[in-house]
Amino acid sequence: MAISSKSGFKTLLQLWPFLLPYKWVLVGALAALALTAGTTLTMGKSIQVLIDQGFIGESLDQLNQTLIWMFVAVIFIAGGTFARFYTVTWLGERVTADLRQAIFSKIITLHPSYFEENRSGEIMSRLTTDTTLLQSIIGSSLSFALRSFVMMVGGLVMLFITNIKLTLIVLAVVPLVLIPIMVFGRRVRTLSRKSQDSIADVGTYAGEIIQQIKTVQSYRHESFEEAAFSREVEKAFTVAKQRILQRSSLIAIVILLSFTAIGTMLWVGGYDVMHGNMTGGELAAFVFYALLVASGVASVSEVLGEVQRAAGATERLIELMDEESLIQSPKAPQPLITEHAIHLELDDVNFQYPSRPDTPALSHVSVQIKTGESVAIVGPSGAGKSTLFELLLRFYDPQQGQIRLNGTDIKALSLDDARHQIALVPQQPILFSSDVWHNIRYGKPDATDEQVKAAAKAAYALEFIEKLPQGFDSYLGENGVRLSGGQKQRIIIARAILNDANILLLDEATSALDGESEFKVQQALDKAMENRTTLIIAHRLSTVKNADRLIVMDHGEIVDIGTHMDLMQTSPLYQKLAERQFED
Ligand code: ATP
Repeated sequence: MAISSKSGFKTLLQLWPFLLPYKWVLVGALAALALTAGTTLTMGKSIQVLIDQGFIGESLDQLNQTLIWMFVAVIFIAGGTFARFYTVTWLGERVTADLRQAIFSKIITLHPSYFEENRSGEIMSRLTTDTTLLQSIIGSSLSFALRSFVMMVGGLVMLFITNIKLTLIVLAVVPLVLIPIMVFGRRVRTLSRKSQDSIADVGTYAGEIIQQIKTVQSYRHESFEEAAFSREVEKAFTVAKQRILQRSSLIAIVILLSFTAIGTMLWVGGYDVMHGNMTGGELAAFVFYALLVASGVASVSEVLGEVQRAAGATERLIELMDEESLIQSPKAPQPLITEHAIHLELDDVNFQYPSRPDTPALSHVSVQIKTGESVAIVGPSGAGKSTLFELLLRFYDPQQGQIRLNGTDIKALSLDDARHQIALVPQQPILFSSDVWHNIRYGKPDATDEQVKAAAKAAYALEFIEKLPQGFDSYLGENGVRLSGGQKQRIIIARAILNDANILLLDEATSALDGESEFKVQQALDKAMENRTTLIIAHRLSTVKNADRLIVMDHGEIVDIGTHMDLMQTSPLYQKLAERQFED
């Protein structure tokens, strides 16, 4: 993605809506800042009085008074700094927390194809690394910069008040300082975005390998993956190195220029004191203010580099926030008529995956499925069986045609209503890394323990769950690694039973199991199918024979519909599929 030409601050301003709820905290921080800055600025004048009247005028009273005032001022500065530091850091943490929540809420509503185009590690990195960067910048650097900026401006005003001639010398240098800030700042920002991107790559890479750890180890690819990973890390380091170089150069140049100006000024000022054109106290005050201004400029320039980095991170976050889900609930959804049980119609559905616009995955698919009917979908690999399910769940919308529940286009229903009618038992059972309770209750969060147990029983899962070390409280490991394939499937079926949807989608639930587990899973499925409209993607004839009807698909089209007996007579493709089954 190209870096926009907007300045870093403008990009950061897009975060304003996140700061707005806390505007009073911000006001408090600014008040604390004004207090400390104002008090610090009086210190120069105190130094002037201290030297001219206390030291040189040898007045003990004046010395005492000035020092007492300075002590009071220091108390103000300490208190104000505490308040500023606390509030600003609080703001940084708060805003980051809100931002993370907002981004997560956005992510989980995005259309599934978004996750085909964007790797999960990359998205995770935005949620964690980018927001952390913003937190450190809003929470500390920005507060530091703001303080430095106010000191710089205030110091400048005091310089003018103290001595105009010397001030003009200092000012001559300012443009010289600003040029490198602008040049280097822009480079830092571009590199920073690149740097964040490559850190995301590192995270994505590691995530993928960890997920596939068994494949990696069984193929003895450890050293290969190590080398590949270290290439990713080194790539990130190279970009970071370029960025650091730019930033260090920027800081060095600014310091050099600032202190050259101060040296010149000291020489001119010293000359004036020697010739009686100004007092020693005035010069001391002037040097104090000049140092404030110089250190202000130095730290502002340093933070400007940070701001550019934050702008890079913000851009990535805003990009994600601006993503619109392609699958939306309609603004005024129609109510789903549920007087009668749900029936399902597909009417001339045409669909291509967005990533393959030229290859129809489904073409002219029309079929009506009556309430309570069980329909098996068969067909060779790639025929479009799973795609059909994806459309029913509205993970994608067809480009043409309609899918209707009780006569209403599912696009006109609220997503919640439409999806509430359907439960999916996917081909690959994937569980959450939590306990059995959580995994089954996912189907109905408010279910009682008894309901969860009943669902487990109906799914023929109760027996093995109770034998687990901690029963329903047993932790199942990431993706449920601590269970066998058949056990995982029965947990998923229990979840679907608990969900109690009207339509059940079963994706080849028994294909990967041996005879014994298949029998158990099949029993669970039969139970789940009772009184429900069921669509089953099946390769096995045992499942297929029990179905009321079969849909034979090939190349995204429905080629035949009928009972097993009918199709054995009339459908050449079905005959072929069935023959292959019997051979197996
Ligand atoms: P199998 O029995 O092997 O699971 P299937 O009948 O379920 O096959 P689908 O998964 O529906 O087949 O795939 C139909 C076609 O769409 C295939 O050509 C497949 O390559 C393609 N396809 C599936 N998923 C995607 C995707 N996310 N993006 C692009 N193309 C896809």
